[in-house]
Amino acid sequence: MPDESLIRRTPWPESASRPLGTPIQPSVVYASPDPDTLDAQYAGEQPGYTYAREGHPNADVLARKIDALEGATGGLITGSGMAAVTAALMGVLKAGDHVLGGDQLYGRSLRLLNQDLPRFGIATTLADFTDAAAVEAALRPETRMILMEVVSNPTLRVADLPGIARLARARGILLAVDNTFTTPRAIRPLEHGADIVIHSVTKILAGHSDATLGYVAATDAAIRRAIYDFAVTTGMTPSPFDCWLAERGLYSFELRYDRAEANAAALAEHLAGLPGMKRVLYPTRPDHPDHNRAAALLGGRGGHMVSFEIAGGRDAANRLTRAAPDIAFAPTLGDIGTTLSHPASSSHRGLSAEARAALGISEGFFRASVGVEEIGLLTAEFTAAVDAATRG
Ligand SMILES: *Cc1c(COP(=O)(O)O)cnc(C)c1O
Repeated sequence: MPDESLIRRTPWPESASRPLGTPIQPSVVYASPDPDTLDAQYAGEQPGYTYAREGHPNADVLARKIDALEGATGGLITGSGMAAVTAALMGVLKAGDHVLGGDQLYGRSLRLLNQDLPRFGIATTLADFTDAAAVEAALRPETRMILMEVVSNPTLRVADLPGIARLARARGILLAVDNTFTTPRAIRPLEHGADIVIHSVTKILAGHSDATLGYVAATDAAIRRAIYDFAVTTGMTPSPFDCWLAERGLYSFELRYDRAEANAAALAEHLAGLPGMKRVLYPTRPDHPDHNRAAALLGGRGGHMVSFEIAGGRDAANRLTRAAPDIAFAPTLGDIGTTLSHPASSSHRGLSAEARAALGISEGFFRASVGVEEIGLLTAEFTAAVDAATRG
């Protein structure tokens, strides 16, 4: 070969037109023209990238879109939702601090609080976040952060965000809100006094169950920097391809959310009328324990999750999922299609039967993450499934 050997990088073809789709940039590393420029890049005086673990364009494109949805600045994309939760806690807290969490947090968040943070000298306790007085009673002089979700899994209880935000503000405690369930379509936590907002982008933001990602943003620049440095040091970097998929998913997020929410409200109404149905949980229904708070806080939005309980034990539950083969029985949420989860055998299987009973989670308890299907199709499938389950 005379001049161009195989190992020289291929130039990108020129085009007078621009691509409409976002490019994917998988490069691990970026070449700078000279040490002065590289120095200026590290100092933040020149824009650009150096090494993908520190940041890359596809993560930034995605982060700016979620920033806009949340009214945040400088949000960070991480390799999973749990990476975002972990970075928000471990990037900020130190030994001797205390964290207060909601007692119905996402399972792995509970584990992080109960098992992992104490190993680093960070004390943690849980409280009922539907009750601001219970939250106040659980605060300590050394409480540094409160971690909460607005709507809980799987019983869809609505936390007293305004009450908790007032307590946090009065005592200078950082308030971190995992907004995965509610999404910025229903509530923007930073407008309600939160200091940190977190997402599992894996769920309805990306929306197609093909990318595992997280997002975390803080209002304070020093806290943002601490979270960023912890995430980069511990290698929580997201894959450019996953970021690209999620960004593509986001273009239709509001359309998908609105359709899924309308379906969820209609499905809740339909389920409530089926024989053999013990109860249906949906935040805006008048029989929901927090429906007044849901109406005030979520602006009339009930979200895309519906929980329900049928009579009967595990056998009835098995019959239900088998009779609805087109509704994926899968422990996730936010897919384009409806998925069903059974907390007693998945998210809450680690709890004792008594602890599950205290939460109201029996063998007949299901949570549906409602998708964008035609509603008649969904109600027919659920009718057949509940019928098969309850008739035995
Ligand atoms: C799924 C989920 C997480 C964790 O996100 P991953 O992307 O699976 O790591 C955290 N919080 C909530 C509320 C979730 O639903």
